[in-house]
Amino acid sequence: MHDVIIVGGGVIGLSIARELAGRGRSVLVLDRGNPRDATSWAAAGMLAPQSETDTPSPFFDLCLTSARLYPEWTKQLHEESGVDPEYADSGLLFVASTEDAMCRIRRNIEWQHSAGLTAELLSPEEALRLEPQLTLCLTGAALIREECHVTPRRLIEALTGACAVKGVEIRSGVRVVDVLHADGRAAGVRTSTEHFSSGYVVIASGVRSPEIGGLFPAIPVTSASCCGLPSSWPVARSSKRATREARRSFITQPAST
Ligand SMILES: Cc1cc2nc3c(=O)[nH]c(=O)nc-3n(C[C@H](O)[C@H](O)[C@H](O)COP(=O)(O)OP(=O)(O)OC[C@H]3O[C@@H](n4cnc5c(N)ncnc54)[C@H](O)[C@@H]3O)c2cc1C
Repeated sequence: MHDVIIVGGGVIGLSIARELAGRGRSVLVLDRGNPRDATSWAAAGMLAPQSETDTPSPFFDLCLTSARLYPEWTKQLHEESGVDPEYADSGLLFVASTEDAMCRIRRNIEWQHSAGLTAELLSPEEALRLEPQLTLCLTGAALIREECHVTPRRLIEALTGACAVKGVEIRSGVRVVDVLHADGRAAGVRTSTEHFSSGYVVIASGVRSPEIGGLFPAIPVTSASCCGLPSSWPVARSSKRATREARRSFITQPAST
């Protein structure tokens, strides 16, 4: 029997597993597939709370605090696993191709400045000087120097390696069907063929969590990323700096990674 069972081996499940194992807990991670099936494998890797937020909120504060932990955290993961998650503090270019999108960027920069955050408004020419391969017709942009990114697939590999070093047991191909309860609290999980007991159960199964018996409904969150698009596609082509356009597409890395 393990102290903690974690359902889901994406970035959230593995991060929690590593942290708990580092604090002396025995941890079992159960995942229905393998790391390449997780949303975390498909992510673009932007750590970009400022460019994703239109209003201040406690959630924004949480995201900002989390993003600021990444330099030290990814360094530790690199040391433990030998895999570099490729944390890069190259800033993010938030581009607009309509007047409406530019208004939104200006509004966001206003409240972010008043909250003590930095972001610079750029003219289309200034944005093009930073990213000469932009093919969008721009109305302007913002350069947010504090936004950064990682390479998600390397992050997952580094986390998997760090979990192994800390003694986390990871089992792939195990789909949890139900959370088991005893005396009003979680006591383990059930798959179609077996039971696993534990004192604590962490649900980190992402968008598929509502399929697990006995849980509250989840709130769906959507996102979009494009890799390896044809060169005629009107999006940002950037190899180093994360680039995004309001409510449209972004590219941070080539299709092969
Ligand atoms: C295209 C795309 C681009 C994105 N870009 C960004 C970005 O730039 N920046 C950013 O911050 N976020 C981005 N996101 C969002 C980010 O990827 C997710 O928020 C994050 O990966 C969620 O991690 P997770 O560990 O919660 O879930 P997941 O990575 O989905 O992991 C959940 C795991 O649970 C397993 N599982 C599910 N059900 C069960 C079950 N019943 N039993 C056992 N295992 C189960 C799955 O197999 C999976 O491995 C992007 C998402 C997408 C789709």
